[in-house]
Order: sequence, then C-alpha cells, then structure tokens
Amino acid sequence: MNKLFSLLLLPLVLLSSQVEYTKWKSGETFLNFLEKQGLPQKIYYNLDKSDQTITEEIYAGVNIQILKDSNESIEQVLIPISEELQLHIYKDKKKYKLTSTPIKYIKKTSAFTVTIEHSPYFDIVNSTGSKKLAHQFVNAFKNSLNFRRDLRKGDRLVMVYAQKYRFGKTFSMPVLQVAMIELRGKKHYIYLNGDGRYYDEKGIEAEGFMLNRPVKNARVSSGFTLRRYHPILRRYRAHLGVDYAARPGTPISAAGSGRIIFAGYTRGYGKLIKIQHSDGYMTLYAHQRAFRRGIKRGKYVKKGQTIGYVGSTGLSTGPHLHFGLYKNGHARNPARVIRITTNKLKGKKLKAFNLLKDDYEKTVELHLAANTQIKKDKIFDNIYYLNIKGFEPKSEDENEPI
Ligand SMILES: [Zn+2]
Repeated sequence: MNKLFSLLLLPLVLLSSQVEYTKWKSGETFLNFLEKQGLPQKIYYNLDKSDQTITEEIYAGVNIQILKDSNESIEQVLIPISEELQLHIYKDKKKYKLTSTPIKYIKKTSAFTVTIEHSPYFDIVNSTGSKKLAHQFVNAFKNSLNFRRDLRKGDRLVMVYAQKYRFGKTFSMPVLQVAMIELRGKKHYIYLNGDGRYYDEKGIEAEGFMLNRPVKNARVSSGFTLRRYHPILRRYRAHLGVDYAARPGTPISAAGSGRIIFAGYTRGYGKLIKIQHSDGYMTLYAHQRAFRRGIKRGKYVKKGQTIGYVGSTGLSTGPHLHFGLYKNGHARNPARVIRITTNKLKGKKLKAFNLLKDDYEKTVELHLAANTQIKKDKIFDNIYYLNIKGFEPKSEDENEPI
C-alpha cells in the first residue's frame, strides 16, 4: 500500500505542483467559490439535485485544499462535506469534473484512568491534554450525578473511547464507549449501546439533549449517513439528515426549544428554518411549503410549536421534510437523539445490553488495575491531501497506515 502510494505521489513532485490551503468562508456558496477560483459554473450545474443540495452543507472554517500546476492553473480541489466524505474537483482531459471521495482514516480505541485531585474536568484535561475528552466525560453524567456534592479526592474514573486518526494524529470528535466514576468509592457507569444511544446501569437512557419528532406519524424515507456507496450510481453520497415523507401542508414542529437563526430560502433546501438550541446544537428544517405566520429570524420557539408546513421547495424530489441536526457546526444523526416512547431497555434488547455491559465492566476493571494512562494526542488540521492519480492522502509518516 505504502509503496504504491509513494509511486503515485511522484508526478506531483515532478510537475512542481503546489497545494494551497484555504478555509471555507462563512456564507460562501459553492457557486461563489467556483467563480472566485475561476472554475466553470458547469461543475455545479452538471450535478444532480441531491449533490447540488449537499454543497450547501460545506461548513464555514473547513480546510479546503487547492492543487495548482506550475502555471497557477487549478488541477484539483478537495472540499470536505462531512467527516467521512469530500468533494473532489479534478481536471480530466482539460475538462473539470466533480466526484465524492471518502476521507480515509483509522479508528482506535483508547482508555485512561484518572485519580481525582480537583474535579473530573480539570483532572482529565491535566492528564490527557484534551478538553474534548473532559467535556464528553462530564457531559455523560451531567443528568444523573452531582460531582460537586458527592465526589471525594482519591475517587477514580475510567473512560474508554474511540478516536479517528489520520497520519497518527486525532481527527474529529472522540466517541465515548464507556465511562465510570467512583463517588465515595461507589462505581457509576454510562455505556454506549449497539443502538448508538447511551444508557446507565439499569438500561435507562442517559442522554440529556433529546428532540421531539418534527413531523407526527411520518415515515422516514431516507436516513442519515456521512458516507454511503450507491451501487447503482456507483459513487459515494452523503445524506446529512433524516427525510420524513408527509403530505404537503402537514405541520412541522420545532424539535426542541430555541432561537430561529435562519428563516429564508436557499437554492438547495428551498424554504428553510434553522433553530439554535443550547449546548451548541442546531436543527434544520428544509423544503417547506410555507412558514407559519410570525415565524422569523430572531424569534424564540418552544419545543413542539408549529413553525411551518411540509412542502417540496428547493431541489426536492417530492413532498418531505429534510430534518438536520448539527453540533457545533458538524452534522449528527438526529435519530440518535429523537425521543422514543420508552427510554428503558426491555426484553431481548435489555439482555443484549447486559452482555455488552459485562464486557465493558471487565474492561474498566482491567484499566483500573493497570492505572492506564494515554499519550497526549496531537491535533491535526490539514487532514485532506491529494496526489494526482489516486486521490490518496499524502502521509506525513509513510509508516502510518491510512
Ligand atoms: Zn434529505
């Protein structure tokens, strides 16, 4: 793999091409970007509806890479649209083309133990160097435990988490698998279940941020995916939300309370509302036929309040609500935080969870006994690189798997 990789990389050096790094600007559209770079607008208009819409998902601040030849002419551009997929513009026989290509990474599971000196947050940052890990740990227990009241110096905690890496450096958010903290010596746990949701020891859902379904009794016609290979179209696609098929005019309600930060029209998403919630969460409601009277930017809405009506505006194939959830600008799967009627596992599901739980607890005990520590992870920003033929990322460390 690495040998092939170095070979593919060679032409890049010979042609003395240059990679320029730039960040996607806030409010910039894909058409603006093409114009600014002197690229043909056809690149956009040749895309199908779904891919045109996905260009509206490019988020402000993301790293863009532009490969230019010695004459300053653009050879390739890489634009990430999710943590798993990037748009790739390239020259093919003097014509520009666009395709979606996966972002490669490896995933590792790591763990650490900490003995409390000050507070879980402070001590985790101190020991791992990562505010993200500390935040996730504290957040996991925020609805069930009172650290301030019950924690004692010398109590211990363990966190097991999965992290994506590119070129030996962390990339994207860590995902908590199991967290344990002792309060006066008694162990408390949060576990990630196979359904992607978090539960406590009794199999009761532990998530604090919960959304209502934005359309009642509607069928999910398309689920969330950061990256999926489409066998008929023979290419990769992303769908950064959930589609609910419903009759035109069906009321759409706010999935959570918050402030409307956008109520207007975009080419891809048609009549669109965005609501900002607490803790960095934002929800998006696209393709609406109309907004409810009085719904506008700046207005505060309550969970369950009607904000608009199902339609098919923008680049839509039929009446449906495209519903998106974002945390700090990154698309998340809304299905994982949609409130379900019962949030306590029962029967077969509880049995499966209990098996998983036993495994997790054994792992936690092993880490406690070993007093596992982690190396401080390096942050890596420029995660997308390319060569001329293979669209492979350039590894900074050739020995690192990609
Ligand atoms: Zn959709």
